[in-house]
Amino acid sequence: MSKRRIAVIGIGKIAQDQHLPVIDRSADFELAATVSQRGIGHGDVPVFASAAEFYAAMPDVSLVAICTPPGARHRLVREALDAGKDVLMEKPPTTTLSEFDDLVAHASRLDRVLFQTWHSRYNIAVERTRERLAADGVRSVRIDWRESVRKWHPGQDWVWEPGGFGVFDPGINALSIFTYVMPFPVFVARASLTFPANRQAPVDAEITFRSGQLHQPVMSAGFNWLEENGEVWTITFETIKGDVLLLEKGGTLLRVNDAVVLDMPPSEYERIYERFAHLLDRRQSDVDGSPLRLAADAFLLGARHNGEVFEW
Ligand code: NAP
Repeated sequence: MSKRRIAVIGIGKIAQDQHLPVIDRSADFELAATVSQRGIGHGDVPVFASAAEFYAAMPDVSLVAICTPPGARHRLVREALDAGKDVLMEKPPTTTLSEFDDLVAHASRLDRVLFQTWHSRYNIAVERTRERLAADGVRSVRIDWRESVRKWHPGQDWVWEPGGFGVFDPGINALSIFTYVMPFPVFVARASLTFPANRQAPVDAEITFRSGQLHQPVMSAGFNWLEENGEVWTITFETIKGDVLLLEKGGTLLRVNDAVVLDMPPSEYERIYERFAHLLDRRQSDVDGSPLRLAADAFLLGARHNGEVFEW
């Protein structure tokens, strides 16, 4: 079978780090074009300054991956759906829940495939954790998600603007794992958000969660964006059975009671594109707004604290 032709829209860090190389290696997809305001191409495919120009010039390409910051996504996904395209979206999907709901409804109305990716979910250790929690129950959860904004978003001022998510840009990856593996719904009980004095989005968040479970599991998260000693992307679960599950390195490594049971190299984006091919075969969408909902709830309930000025 010939490969499916796809265009990538927004050729920034994640498109260059993951989407383009993964498409290059994919058995299912081949790159047809890039859409880049700055004119960034890849290989010898055509480059367009806007999605509209690409749709007009190459109407036979029916797939797009939208890798811009979330603020541009609602407009771009709507435009793609209206042009008859099936769409893969980077995370976080949109800046608001109402925009997200609108895209889901619009894709369904037009009978297009919409794939909302949450890359951190695409690890075997995450899947294994989900199975164990379903079998053994959850007594407590602690999420520790710390990284350097300077390393992962160098010079990207949009992350500090309203709608840029701040530390929830990485934190929502933890929430995407959390909402996927938990065997019952979780809610934000309270949150404490620290904003740099000169910025519009938080650099640090501490969140307490609750549930409707009678045994009242204790659940919390701490996100920080000024960690300069490598990444801490860890979730610790204590099961009702009494085991301690440590999901580390962003969901790629699982320890149970200190013994490593799974340690796989990350292949999140390879699995995302395999999943997209599967969804296209079945003409099925995959959309889940639950991580965005928890992030939005933390902003709704969050107490604001002023922190130090942030400069790159
Ligand atoms: P980025 O480096 O700032 O790249 C985004 C690119 O999108 C820009 O370089 C620009 O590319 C295009 N763009 C920016 N504003 C736009 C607008 N208003 N309209 C249309 N295009 C616009 O950001 P990134 O780090 O790649 O992040 C993009 C998304 O991927 C975010 O949602 C982020 O959460 C997610 N993500 C990032 C990482 C990471 O490691 N940074 C990891 C996983 C997921 P052109 O000039 O080519 O148009």
